[in-house]
Amino acid sequence: MNELAERVKEISDQNVYSCYLCGNCSAGCMFTDEMDTLPHQVIALVQMEDKDALEKNTSWICASCFVCSVRCPRGLDVAAIMEALREIKIRERGFRKIDLRKIKDIEKLPQIAITAAAQKFTW
Ligand code: SF4
Ligand code: SF4
Repeated sequence: MNELAERVKEISDQNVYSCYLCGNCSAGCMFTDEMDTLPHQVIALVQMEDKDALEKNTSWICASCFVCSVRCPRGLDVAAIMEALREIKIRERGFRKIDLRKIKDIEKLPQIAITAAAQKFTW
């Protein structure tokens, strides 16, 4: 397993080599119009250890709706893989754009909004 795939596995517990690139996940994704690369194509990049996988907007457009995960015939949690790619990117950049401690009345925000902000809008 290549290093990028290892990191994805570490974070998401998903083995990208289980994917046989059928495209079923991408076919069900409602956000592909906004993505520069389809979800299964990003997985293929990870399989090939192509760091371009981290530069695509796919994982950032992903809304974690889990449709892809439900559709995968190999039982892969594609949404978790997308999340792992975001996390790797955030860790590589080493800084966060939003300082959650500075948000006023944060306790009044829905928890899901805080989680999304922490995972998606921090670079
Ligand atoms: S549905 Fe599953 S096996 Fe098919 S391309 Fe997507 S992740 Fe790979
Ligand atoms: S979890 Fe992300 S990649 Fe999967 S179908 Fe939903 S938006 Fe698309």
